[in-house]
This record gives sequence, structure tokens and C-alpha cells, in this order.
Amino acid sequence: MARKPLIAGNWKMNLNHLEAIALVQKIAFALPDKYFAKVDVTVIPPFVDLRSVQTLVDGDKLLITYGAQDVSTHESGAYTGEISAAMLAKLGCTFAVVGHSERRQYHNEDDAIVLAKAKQALKHELTPIVCIGEGLGVREAQTHVAYNLEQLRGSLKGLTAEEISKIVIAYEPVWAIGTGRVATPADAQEVCGAIRTELGKLADPDTAAGVRILYGGSANAKNVGELLAQPDIDGALVGGASLKGDEFATMSAIA
Ligand code: PEP
Repeated sequence: MARKPLIAGNWKMNLNHLEAIALVQKIAFALPDKYFAKVDVTVIPPFVDLRSVQTLVDGDKLLITYGAQDVSTHESGAYTGEISAAMLAKLGCTFAVVGHSERRQYHNEDDAIVLAKAKQALKHELTPIVCIGEGLGVREAQTHVAYNLEQLRGSLKGLTAEEISKIVIAYEPVWAIGTGRVATPADAQEVCGAIRTELGKLADPDTAAGVRILYGGSANAKNVGELLAQPDIDGALVGGASLKGDEFATMSAIA
């Protein structure tokens, strides 16, 4: 099944709303509409930037989409500091990242929380980008495939095949995030291929064949081509390089 590549820029806690507008304008200028026939491009700014990004995207009819870096497990109510899926959907978000390793590590988010967030996103017609990935110790112990599949099963537990067909998976080895140490295309493919096989068991092979699996971890304009050439890698979740408009646009054009 043909899968349209997705290049997603996770800005993390960078750029205020004015800087966000400038960056989206730069990406849009470098990426004429014709590119969007073959690649989906999305930016994932901090929550406080989303309204400004929405205004720009709607006003200029840009084909870039946008999403959030996290979403609450709750529907609404007394959860100070939380942002609900309904609020994000109302702002026109397409995606919500769930289970990024920085949330798993610094906010103790386990697979059950990641699953609850993915469910909230799905309920409000946002596409969850479900992140999984092993740390360096697991990679060195060579138990990374089993580790990732365990995280995958835990983060998708009980979802129907139809729900699984609506998600995006991001394989992000923690040792590669922000380190400049990108996984080799073969190493990334090994895990992404195993993820697809496992999705076939959790849903069915047809559903698995349609799910987009992204690689994330020090991806940039130089290495993204080789990564995307792998049969089970359908795009990239990009951190550092997504803050440079020209480089992010180049990565999108390569995809
Ligand atoms: C990320 O945080 O999702 C990421 C992939 O970061 P970087 O590209 O900077 O490694």
C-alpha cells in the first residue's frame, strides 16, 4: 500500500509565537504547493504558538499542517495546566504527539498514559503520533527490538484495527535524539520493519501496511534521504533540524 511520507517538525520548547510565524513563513516560502502532492509536512510548536500558526495557515491557505507536542488524558475539568484534545481540535490541529521520550523520561509517562492520550486524540479526530524508542543501555544489550515491541503493545493496548489505521508511529531511539548520532538506515529499518510486523498482529496485515512509521533522532537534510529509502520508514520526526526553515523545507522536498 502506498504511504504518503510525513515530515514532522517537533519544535520542543523553542520559539515564541512571533518566531513561530516567521519560521512557518520561511518553510512555506521554500516549499511551493506542488510538493504537497507527494509529502505531508507538519509543524509541532509549543501550545502557545498554535493560534498564531493557525491564523497564518488559514489566512494564506498554506498546505502545511500543525499539531501539538502533548495532549491531556482527560476530557475537561479541574486539571490545571493541561490542554485537552477538544481544544487542540478546535484550533485546527491535525496531529498530537504522545509518548515522546522526553515526556516519558521527565514526566514519568508510561505506556498506559501514552495509550490514554492516544485515545483522547483519536476521540477528537486528531492523529496521534505515538513515540517509542530504546535507550542506549537497551541498544548496547541488543534487546532493542523486543523492547520497542513491548512499548508498542503497551501504548496501543486494546485499540481496534480501525483506530490503529488512524495513528502514526514514531521510532525514536533515545540515544539518537539531539545527540547528532543518527541510527544507520539498516538499524532504523530493523526496528521499523519489526513494528510493522507487530502492527499486523495487533490489527491485521492490511491495516499495518497502511500505517505510517517515522524515524526520529538527529535526522537532517544530509541523512534523511537514506533513511526514507528504507521500505518501512515513511517519514521523519525532526527536532533540531526543524528549527531551521531552509533545512526543514529541504528535508520535506527530499521526501
Ligand atoms: C525529537 O525530539 O523528536 C527529535 C527527533 O530530536 P532531534 O531531531 O533533535 O534528534
